Amino acid sequence: INEIKNKHITVLGLGVTGLGIVRFLLSQNIQPKVVDSREQPPGADWLAEHASELVTHFGDLDNAALSNTDIIIISPGLSLTTPAVAKAMAAGVEVIGDVELFARLTDKPIVAVTGSNGKSTVVTLAFEVLKAAGYKVGLGGNIGTAVLDLFAHDYDVFVLELSSFQLDTTQSLKAHSACVLNVSEDHLDRYPSYQAYIDSKQRIYNGAALCVVNAIDAATHTAKQPQLSFALRNADYSLVDQQGEQYFAAQGKPLLPVSSLNVVGTHNQQNALAVMALLSPFEITAEHYQQAFSAFTGLAHRCQFVAEISGVKYFNDSKATNVGATIAAIESLADQAKQLVVIAGGDAKGADLDALKPYLNDKVKALVCFGKDAKALVALSDKGHLTSNMHEAVLLAKQLSDQGDIVLLAPACASIDMYNNYMQRGDDFTQCVLAEAV
Ligand code: ADP
Repeated sequence: INEIKNKHITVLGLGVTGLGIVRFLLSQNIQPKVVDSREQPPGADWLAEHASELVTHFGDLDNAALSNTDIIIISPGLSLTTPAVAKAMAAGVEVIGDVELFARLTDKPIVAVTGSNGKSTVVTLAFEVLKAAGYKVGLGGNIGTAVLDLFAHDYDVFVLELSSFQLDTTQSLKAHSACVLNVSEDHLDRYPSYQAYIDSKQRIYNGAALCVVNAIDAATHTAKQPQLSFALRNADYSLVDQQGEQYFAAQGKPLLPVSSLNVVGTHNQQNALAVMALLSPFEITAEHYQQAFSAFTGLAHRCQFVAEISGVKYFNDSKATNVGATIAAIESLADQAKQLVVIAGGDAKGADLDALKPYLNDKVKALVCFGKDAKALVALSDKGHLTSNMHEAVLLAKQLSDQGDIVLLAPACASIDMYNNYMQRGDDFTQCVLAEAV
């Protein structure tokens, strides 16, 4: 920390992350300049209470004198290509993220996870397993708790969910184990190409003591060693059949029954295998896995059961904010439904939606769409229906479904065109569904 104590530091972007950075710096008696492009950024009230310790600039970044600082600690919400940031970088200012600062300041083991889909599920499961095994474990990063806030506790291992944006501003991370779970098109509005997005995710392997790769997803593969692979079949961590029962297995050796995992879908079995590979350097027994896997009932807004109305089940997968996640949700629920009515739409963030087409097969009887990119979704097949909001979409889905069907909200898009976030969208769906139940 002494390294940065006598430097001039600017914290750029005030969300959960930015405020976490400011809190941490103040706790270290470092007084940063705080900058946000919004006139009224979140947390402005809290910052006002600390006005004597901070210099603030809210509003146009071009007037924020970003070049007159030694280090900018930038929020993942802001792109490095933002003109004022690019200008500061060209002027020699060091631009880092909070994860970079975190990595420089700890020597405790870190389990690091990135990927397009399943990150939150995998880190939460890993956290629960480590806890069951008696570790004092801190969970943070993209999942909600800003990493620097984790230093407020005495943890002996950290589990971090890292987005590609966080990895873009991280150089010093040396994870105990690191995984790119999968890569599918997402965030193409912020990357110049799909390959650039893949490269960004692959940064997690730099300096890692163990790389965990998805055997069936080449974009997660690396030449770095040592490494372990996971996949339903043909990988270091995979499923095996024994006496009619399926097991999670390491190198073909059964560890515990798949039935001990309490969440549905083969994508969650893959997530569990990734967890086991990631935690292989730790002291964990089959009993610890059993305990954590059976207690885990899934995260809200991820294939979450909402209600059953007239024999039709409704599931909220609002967190499916890209095509890959929607495909996983369709695949994992298809077995349980006579047919599916899928509600989708929102901001596709520049992604190519065509990958959905093969999944709009016999199992999907209708795709009910609304939001910014609804027309593009409707155009994918002859099953598309255009509506103007969630309420209309739920009403139409109800009309189109019959006993034994599932209505699934799995938008394949971000929510920001109509909602504050995916949680609010999922809550809206839940309310609209429950209103139909009475
Ligand atoms: P993330 O944190 O990466 O957004 P989550 O664990 O919150 O991931 O899951 C988001 C959505 O992605 C889920 O609702 C589900 O539809 C889908 N999903 C979860 N795990 C996987 C996986 N291994 N492969 C593909 N899709 C997945």
